Amino acid sequence: MNAFDRKTMAIEAPGDEPAELHIIAPTVVRPGDAFSLKVAVADAMGYPSVKCREQGTIHGDFAYPTEWRTDFGEGNPAVAQIDGITIPTEGFYRFRGEIAIRGQKRVFWSNPVCCKSDGPFIYWGDPHVHTVLSDCHPGRCRSLNFCYVAARWFAGLDWVSAADHVSNGRCTPGKWREQIALSEAFNDPPNFVTLPAYEASFKGGAGGDANVYMRRWPDLFVEDYDRGTIQTMCRGLAEKLTPSEEFFVVPHHTTRTGKHGEIGPDIYPGEALMPVVEIHSKWGTSEYRGNPNPLHQIHPGPSYAVDLLNRGLKLGFIGGTDTHSTMPAGFGDEHLDRLPGLTAVFADELTRHAIYDGIRTRNCYATSLERLYLDVCIADVGPGSTIKWSNPNAPRYIRVVAAARSEIVSLEVVRNGRTIETQSPNNWQGTLECIDEADLNAESLISEPPGRFAYYYVRVTCASGAQAWSSPIWLLL
Ligand SMILES: [Zn+2]
Ligand SMILES: [Zn+2]
Repeated sequence: MNAFDRKTMAIEAPGDEPAELHIIAPTVVRPGDAFSLKVAVADAMGYPSVKCREQGTIHGDFAYPTEWRTDFGEGNPAVAQIDGITIPTEGFYRFRGEIAIRGQKRVFWSNPVCCKSDGPFIYWGDPHVHTVLSDCHPGRCRSLNFCYVAARWFAGLDWVSAADHVSNGRCTPGKWREQIALSEAFNDPPNFVTLPAYEASFKGGAGGDANVYMRRWPDLFVEDYDRGTIQTMCRGLAEKLTPSEEFFVVPHHTTRTGKHGEIGPDIYPGEALMPVVEIHSKWGTSEYRGNPNPLHQIHPGPSYAVDLLNRGLKLGFIGGTDTHSTMPAGFGDEHLDRLPGLTAVFADELTRHAIYDGIRTRNCYATSLERLYLDVCIADVGPGSTIKWSNPNAPRYIRVVAAARSEIVSLEVVRNGRTIETQSPNNWQGTLECIDEADLNAESLISEPPGRFAYYYVRVTCASGAQAWSSPIWLLL
C-alpha cells in the first residue's frame, strides 16, 4: 500500500479501538506457489483502526513460513499484506490469528484456502458500492479513491465496482468523467480489478433498481427513469455498447416495496442481457418469501429470485453490499442492516475481461459475510450450465464440497424452489452427496421458453449467519 492509499484510508475512515482481526487469504492456491495474506484490524463499526497498539500473530503450521507477526503502529490504519507464503500439500486450510482486544487475547480465523493443482481460481468482489458521487446519503459515503483503496487493501478484495446512482440527476457528464478516470487508474491486473458499473433506477414495475456492468466505459451513461423500463434502457445503451458482449444488467433487492422487481415478460431484456440477479445485499435476501433475512418492507408480488426462476428466467446469483458508507464487502455506519454481500467469480486469471465474462456466463456465486468455498456438481455439470435431460427418470448425481470460516450448519440442495436434501456438517468443512431420483415428469416446471424444465441450486448456511448460493443448473426436458 503506497503513502497516498494509506493517507486516504486514515483521513476518510479513521477507525477507533481494535475489535476484530481480519485475515484474508486467496480461496484457491496452487501447491508451492507463493501468495499473499491481507491482514487488517477493524473497529466495532468495521472501519480500519488507527489505534492498534498491539502486535498480532498469524499461524499456519501447514504453510511456509509457519508464523508471522504484524505490527501496524498507532496512527496508521491497521492494514498489512504478508507476501511469499506457500502451502506445499493439497487440502483445505485456515490460518489462525491472535491479537489482544481490550487487553484480552482473542483468536480469529481466516477464510478457508483450497490448495489444489488444477481448476479455476476464485476471485472475490463487491459489485455494488456507492460513493459520494451517488449523492445518496452523502454524509455517510466516502470518495471514489477511498472505495478502491478500501476494497483492495482493507477488504482484501480482488475486484470491485463503484456502482454509483445516475438516475434523477444524480450523475452529470463531469462526474462520469471522474468515474472513468479513477476506475482506470486503480485497475491493476493481475493484482486488482475495477469493473465499470453504474446503478440505474426505474419506476415500480418498470425494472426497479438495476445495475449495469460494462466491459469498457462508454462516453456517457444511459438511463430511462422518466418514461422507460429496464428494457428500453438496454436498447438505448446498445447504441453505445454491444449488448451482452460489452454490457449486461442486474436487478437487485427485487422484493423491495415500491420497486416491484418482478421483471414481467414485457420488460425482460432476455437471458443474455440479464444473466444474474443480486440475491443478497445489506438490504436483505431476496431468495424466497419467508427466508430468514428478508428486507424490512416487502412488495407483495412474485418478485423473489425463485419466483423469477420458476417463470423460466435463467438467472445466476451474485451478492453485493449496496454499501452507502463506501465500505466494500464490509460494515459501517449504515441505513442498511443485513450482512454484507459478496460475489465469487471462477476464472483462470484476474483481469477485467475474466471477471466480466465470469458473471456474464453465470460462472459465479453469491455469499453474505464470509468468503466460502463452494464447489457444486449436479448431473455432471457445474453452476450456470444448461443441459438437455431427455430421460426424466434418469438419476441426477449431486456433489457439493464447501468450506467456511465458521461452522457450516447446513448444506441444502434446492430443486425448483424447494429444498430436497439437507445435511448438517457442523464443521468448517462439509460435503454432500446424494442422488435425486424423483420423476421429473411430475416435478418439472413449464414456461415459454424454455418449455419443460427443472433447476437446481445449493444453499449453504453458517454459524456466523453467513450464507452462500450457487448459481443454478438447468435441465431441459
Ligand atoms: Zn442509494
Ligand atoms: Zn445501490
